[in-house]
Amino acid sequence: MDTATARKRLEEMRGELDKSIAVLQGEQPTERAGLDSPQDPADAGTNLSENDRMQAVLSAAKVQLRAVSDALGRIELGSYGTCADCGSPIPEGRLDARPEAARCVKCQARRDRGR
Ligand SMILES: [Zn+2]
Repeated sequence: MDTATARKRLEEMRGELDKSIAVLQGEQPTERAGLDSPQDPADAGTNLSENDRMQAVLSAAKVQLRAVSDALGRIELGSYGTCADCGSPIPEGRLDARPEAARCVKCQARRDRGR
């Protein structure tokens, strides 16, 4: 994938992520909806896990946004498409599936295991 195409796709992804994050942050409960009926523990539990789920989606979107921004930075630096760890070229198919990928599959798997 040439960097012009990669840049275009990454910029689109960044736009989508910006939007998603803005929406998710706009949905943060500023006042608790369950405040009127705090006596129902089942409802409270549901609200909590729903909030947790939203936080998880939001933080995943932020991580993704950082990866996309980093990839755009690598395009500027001319190091896009090269594994950040071993320096091998990242396979075309991988960049096609994940244009924001910073590492080849092998290095990414090693990092994921290390976490
Ligand atoms: Zn690598």
